[in-house]
Amino acid sequence: MQRQFGLPKNVAIRQADDHGGIEIAEAHGAAAAIAMEVRMRVSACPWLCGKTPDAIIVGKPMGKVFGHQEIERAIERYAVELGAGIGERLIDFKMRQRMIGREQHIQCRQPCRGDTQAFFLEQIFGRRIHVQHCCMKSWTEESPSTTIRPRFLSPSFPMSARLLLKPGKERSLFRRHPWLFAGSVASLEGRARPGDTVDIMDGEKVLAKAAWSPSSQIRARVWTFDADETVDNAFFKRRVAAAVVRRQALPELQKQNGLRLIHAESDGLPGVIADQYGDLIVIQLTSAGADKWRSAIVDALVKATGCARIYERSDSEVRKLEGLEPTTGWAYGEAPSNDPIIEEHGVKMAVDYAGGHKTGFYLDQRDNRRFARELAAGRRVLNCFCYTGGFSLQALAGDAREVVSIDSSGPALATAQRNLELNSGLDASKCEWREADVFQSLRDMHKQGEKFDLVILDPPKFAPSAAHADRAARAYKDINLHGLKLLNPGGLLMTYSCSGGIGLELFQSIVAGAARDAGVTARIVKRLQGAADHPVDLAFPEGEYLKGLLVQAD
Ligand code: SAH
Repeated sequence: MQRQFGLPKNVAIRQADDHGGIEIAEAHGAAAAIAMEVRMRVSACPWLCGKTPDAIIVGKPMGKVFGHQEIERAIERYAVELGAGIGERLIDFKMRQRMIGREQHIQCRQPCRGDTQAFFLEQIFGRRIHVQHCCMKSWTEESPSTTIRPRFLSPSFPMSARLLLKPGKERSLFRRHPWLFAGSVASLEGRARPGDTVDIMDGEKVLAKAAWSPSSQIRARVWTFDADETVDNAFFKRRVAAAVVRRQALPELQKQNGLRLIHAESDGLPGVIADQYGDLIVIQLTSAGADKWRSAIVDALVKATGCARIYERSDSEVRKLEGLEPTTGWAYGEAPSNDPIIEEHGVKMAVDYAGGHKTGFYLDQRDNRRFARELAAGRRVLNCFCYTGGFSLQALAGDAREVVSIDSSGPALATAQRNLELNSGLDASKCEWREADVFQSLRDMHKQGEKFDLVILDPPKFAPSAAHADRAARAYKDINLHGLKLLNPGGLLMTYSCSGGIGLELFQSIVAGAARDAGVTARIVKRLQGAADHPVDLAFPEGEYLKGLLVQAD
């Protein structure tokens, strides 16, 4: 098919093959034509989002093409004009490639093999670089994975940056713990930018490949402990697909239309959270490495689930520790006309994915909400930190006598109200919503002599890390103490901590201290945890952030 690009009359470019590579139909004026065409494609390239590519590779045309050097010079001039800079290297290997520029966005014009390009780029830049073909049809085509091994390497090529450890600091990696703290790092050999994949070394052996995060105390997060595994698009495709399949294997998860698909470290994807609500997935990327591989993760999710939309809610505070700006918006597809509605144990819940907390909904409490429903029959229930009413509506569905729900967030309570309306079978007259501070409300209710048969305490994360544990412990003790005081004899307290910085033992001792100070004799009747779509990698106990106790008072 002839394609005209508004070029001088004597030049025509036609699409030559399925890769969208181009062939010169008429030699005369070809250099200018190609340069112009590259320019056009760069500016139209959606994944560059209007940004300047930092480098352009020009593969040497396979056939004999008149004016090849002219073409290169024209593109070179264009690169300079773009400010892409020139760091030229010529490499001889099957195909000769000319490198212009230095950095990571690569515009690749020739339909030469992606793995060869990827290989060269990795050697030159010391890390894996995403190569996108500059083809009409394949903007979203992923680059083939590199299978060429370093035996083709000239020794002068730098390898991936290497992270050397202080003596003894490799031990946690032997246990397959995926975090490497700043205090364990002796030095970094070679260049690495935030999010780049570096080799963690034990002598001359590669122990792990990890995402480099120079501004975080967690200096590197391991992608893989397999020295032979390449961290590339195909890697993310495998890991994401495995996470999805893992959930499909569990019957209780198969029927959920609200599901955590990726639970970060515990799914082998540090810093990556993905929650599915019907045909919409919300992702949250919280580490430099995850941020770097955004498009690979999004592509992999689309492929693994066939979902129509992916929204990014990377606005968590923890991104600051990684030197990352907040990022929100559509990563794939467009906004649906309404918020998605999921169904949990037969109760409909609208998910405010763009304005709500985290990714919009707390899927981790799914099992515990069902348990609260079972306990609620005939009871007067107090749901503290109710958010959009998850526990409250389940308690109502479980025939609670009355449900009082407290949260300090007006928008969350508005969604809770909406959720109640979505479920016409529930008796709204038994429900009371209070926009208030729980700490104060518990005291006020005690003064007013209010009593409950089931008190639920599901507060926000008081201790994001161990450094906040002391202050958080006081806050946990306070709400548990005052919550226990509100119980009728034989009443139940369902109490949680979702703080990574507070372990189960510490949490239990805090609740014990609260009971002592409240003058209540109570016993643990059940230990509670997150749902199965929030698995805990055995090598990563930190993954068990959500812990709960069901306590029965005398
Ligand atoms: N249990 C909920 C999730 C709770 S998230 C569920 O199952 O969906 C924690 C909630 O605590 C948030 O909605 C937040 O708005 C609320 N919150 C935080 N601090 C609070 C305070 N001091 N008083 C009342 N609510 C508070």
